[in-house]
Amino acid sequence: MNDFSDLLEELEQRGMRRFPRTLDGAQGPRMKMDGRDVLVLCSNNYLGLANHPHLVEAAARATRDLGTSSGASRLVSGSMRIHDEFEQRLADFKGTEAGLLFNSGYAANIGILQGLAGPGDVIFSDALNHASIIDGCRLSAARVLVYPHTDVQALEDLMQRERPDRKGHWFIVTDGVFSMDGDLAPLPELVALKKQYDALLMVDDAHGTGVLGDSGRGSGEHFGCLPDIDLHMGTLGKALGGFGAYLASSRAVVDLLINRARSLIFSTSLPPGVVAAGLEALAVIESDEGRRRRQDLWSLRELFAGPLREAGFDLCGSVTQIVPVLTGEPGPTMEATSRLLEAGIFLQGIRPPTVPEGKCRLRATLMSDHDPQDISHAAATLMELLGESR
Ligand SMILES: *Cc1c(COP(=O)(O)O)cnc(C)c1O
Repeated sequence: MNDFSDLLEELEQRGMRRFPRTLDGAQGPRMKMDGRDVLVLCSNNYLGLANHPHLVEAAARATRDLGTSSGASRLVSGSMRIHDEFEQRLADFKGTEAGLLFNSGYAANIGILQGLAGPGDVIFSDALNHASIIDGCRLSAARVLVYPHTDVQALEDLMQRERPDRKGHWFIVTDGVFSMDGDLAPLPELVALKKQYDALLMVDDAHGTGVLGDSGRGSGEHFGCLPDIDLHMGTLGKALGGFGAYLASSRAVVDLLINRARSLIFSTSLPPGVVAAGLEALAVIESDEGRRRRQDLWSLRELFAGPLREAGFDLCGSVTQIVPVLTGEPGPTMEATSRLLEAGIFLQGIRPPTVPEGKCRLRATLMSDHDPQDISHAAATLMELLGESR
């Protein structure tokens, strides 16, 4: 009983027990698993920056010069010059007054929502928002109203219904790119609503920053509405090839969060090497090389998704580098995952609670330095395999 074996057994029987898969070698399109070469088709290292020589060198240099740890939280002695510099750089990148670093996207979302949304406030949250937003909503003292995925009309109905009793701040919170479906939030429509109802719009652009928009500024740039977003949250561990997260917003919001966000106040700040890698990542993303990497990523995405779409597979509305293939139930999903692995293709089957019941999927993610031949081959293998089980 106390060894929790009953609970593990129950997960096992429902086909829901999960295990981490250990990889060897540096991050990249091909890595080793159990001594075998595999094509990695489930990494968020979208632009291949996680092992980029500029980032590696910047991290190494900052670590040699400044040490391996910040030594304390931001409000004690853990605010180093390099944190301030990077925060200003992130603010400039997103076009806001101020930036604020967090230790991860998870910590950012729980800290921002807990720190800003209090009693009397309302958070309107998309039904498919990331788990960290859901947990942030739970930690805040605000009323939380979940609207059906990307359904702007339903959101407006909710806002209209709430309006007569309005007391405090209203927040519309959404992923920019949805992590399990690879579709986009309807940002222009959300901007119109937030203006009409005097709400604040928060966009979690974990999968959009670096990848979307001509200069990589994310889903807001893609839709041409970057200045209309009040709270730009993003992560450094995906396209930026590093670790950590940030908020870019007004000076007042950032200053308030420095005083109220518990995940920021009560946690040691990012080590200098990680911050240096982040600064370098932004330089690459804004350069011609960054633009080239984005172009490569989009052509690889088409190379992979095109044939699947034409063959009639349900890609869950994906329009980005995240390409899920709907499989339905956990059994066949995990069966397909292991058969793909036998064929040297590593991607994860996604099951509840990450996605709703009956909506299991094989979720592929592309990287700009994937080999086009590998990607065509992976799409063909996947179709062959799923075609059989249909
Ligand atoms: C990955 C992700 C996060 C969490 O970021 P971490 O830095 O990995 O903690 C938050 N939101 C979204 C949409 C994500 O995809």
